[in-house]
Amino acid sequence: MFILILGAPGSGKGTQGKILAERLGLPKITTGDLLRAAMKDGTPLGLDAKKYYDEGKLVPDSIILGMIKEQLDRPEAKTGAILDGFPRTAAQAELVDRTLAQRGQRLNHILLLDVTEDELVRRMSARSQVEGRSDDAPEAIANRLQIYQRDTAPLIAHYTQRGIVHRVPGTGTVDQIAGEIKRIIGR
Ligand code: ADP
Repeated sequence: MFILILGAPGSGKGTQGKILAERLGLPKITTGDLLRAAMKDGTPLGLDAKKYYDEGKLVPDSIILGMIKEQLDRPEAKTGAILDGFPRTAAQAELVDRTLAQRGQRLNHILLLDVTEDELVRRMSARSQVEGRSDDAPEAIANRLQIYQRDTAPLIAHYTQRGIVHRVPGTGTVDQIAGEIKRIIGR
């Protein structure tokens, strides 16, 4: 089973994705974590990505598409995975759809975490105090929210046509939201 967790930056994708992956025993593929690891290790990909990342801009598809393909092709992800942080652009969505279709698979569920913009800003600002993520600076936060609306939100319409999008209220306790996701997926 392939499940995509979609939502604005700060909506809780990482937290809920982790809970879901552990419960279902599926690997979680998180492009943001992969990029942070590549930047920390100073790999060529990490160095290329850093300037976009720090400004809160999307890392270009020319860098990301290969990473996504490689992750989907890993043996662990043969029968399913939780996708967190991608697809974020039309080209990424096409790559995911095509890669799975070639294997006779498809995205089964899309969980759309719904959180108001005020709450998103509040959470990311609070997180910047704790985690010190370079893209949680005020200007980068504004960029990320704007880019989400422009590039990623349109994917919702694309997937809604297929009838696989479930809206999940993203406010409440972590447990409440996890419970709602369990109810939606049925396991
Ligand atoms: P958030 O959803 O809170 O922005 P992520 O860890 O998913 O957190 O993403 C952080 C940053 O990593 C993004 O602003 C972007 O620079 C980069 N990034 C992550 N995933 C992608 C992706 N699929 N395509 C392009 N850039 C990405």
